[in-house]
Amino acid sequence: MRLVDSHGHLNSDRFDDDVDQVIGGAQLAGLERILVPGWNHHSSSRALELAEARPWLDAAVGVHPHDAAKVTHEEWADICRWAGDARVVAIGETGLDSDRMFSPWPVQLENLRRNLDLALATGKPAILHCRSKMGERDAQDALVAELRAAGFAGERAQAAFGERPPAIIHSFSGPVDYAAEVIAMGLAVSFSGLVYRQGEESSASAAVLVPSARLLVETDAPFLAPPGSPKGRNMPANVAITAAWVAGRRGIAQSDEAGLAAFGDSLVAAYDLAFARARPRG
Ligand SMILES: [Zn+2]
Repeated sequence: MRLVDSHGHLNSDRFDDDVDQVIGGAQLAGLERILVPGWNHHSSSRALELAEARPWLDAAVGVHPHDAAKVTHEEWADICRWAGDARVVAIGETGLDSDRMFSPWPVQLENLRRNLDLALATGKPAILHCRSKMGERDAQDALVAELRAAGFAGERAQAAFGERPPAIIHSFSGPVDYAAEVIAMGLAVSFSGLVYRQGEESSASAAVLVPSARLLVETDAPFLAPPGSPKGRNMPANVAITAAWVAGRRGIAQSDEAGLAAFGDSLVAAYDLAFARARPRG
């Protein structure tokens, strides 16, 4: 089955000592693309550096809600400049997090808005992190309201993105009606090792709702190691575990070779559509 990791932080310092081996392991496992998202200035710059020598890796630049209060004006100006780079295929990761609240809520909103504006201005989709406290949905509801206010459900996104998704909900977590709402807005939805956790049953059940052209899988490495992988640091190669899980949820048996092959093809096609990856990088 063809494989891509639509969200793996090879730019994390947890890969500093052996990033070449980790990337080699991903290639051996058959991964064709890895998208390396930034979360602040340093990690965005490191994502660009990793994609420089390896044209099959893609970078995203942006500011995570956890880091919203830490980024300086000069750093944000660099990120806006980097957003135009051919190695950068998306803006993020950004979003909202009312679970851990490492940045005050008004600052998170301001950060999200400028990342969304940058996505619309560049025609590169926003990668969205969204977490509420267990069993709550305030961050998801606020995110949908912000996306609507920024024009992601209307003409502004249509003009900037055409048939492509204007944003990706990364590591999907939330109620089923929220999944249905972001799908109706044309967003892509990406599933990670989070779907196996207790309390995430509704997130897991969203895996059958997403149309193939909008369906992505990811590791969020070094976080969220899926069951069946070695405990501790998650690796891009483990995306095979979550891809097989999503295929199973969608009714494709592990013995159905043709079905799994077609599913792998659709994962690559959804990635290439979302990140305009069919375009050669010049
Ligand atoms: Zn992430």
